[in-house]
Amino acid sequence: MKKIEHIGIAVNSIETSNILFKKLLGTPCYKEEEVASEGVKTSFFKTGLNKIELLEATKEDSPIAKFLEKKGEGIHHIAFEVQDIVAEIARLKEEGFTILNEIPKKGADNKLVAFVHPKTTNGVLIELCQEIV
Ligand code: ZN
Repeated sequence: MKKIEHIGIAVNSIETSNILFKKLLGTPCYKEEEVASEGVKTSFFKTGLNKIELLEATKEDSPIAKFLEKKGEGIHHIAFEVQDIVAEIARLKEEGFTILNEIPKKGADNKLVAFVHPKTTNGVLIELCQEIV
């Protein structure tokens, strides 16, 4: 794994939270994107080299809706950038981690993504992401 690519935060309203995070970080959201297949709307903020992703549910059965229902707003996942997502999934499986989707899927921000089940990572949902070139 190369570095933390971003931290994902589940929010009830992107509209409201975009205003809040603009105030907090002193910089506006630079990109908004809906991932219809995941039932999620996202917005991205940059602070120096670091990125924050806000996630709002767009349908009731989306993973974000379920997370918000169970835990409320808060940190949803930590995303790590990887060079070769297929190899990394294979390595983590070999190490005994549970991968939620063994075939990488298209996520927000032009990335291939896969998730590691929080039950096998001390309660933290881990996202692997590889830039699509
Ligand atoms: Zn993410």
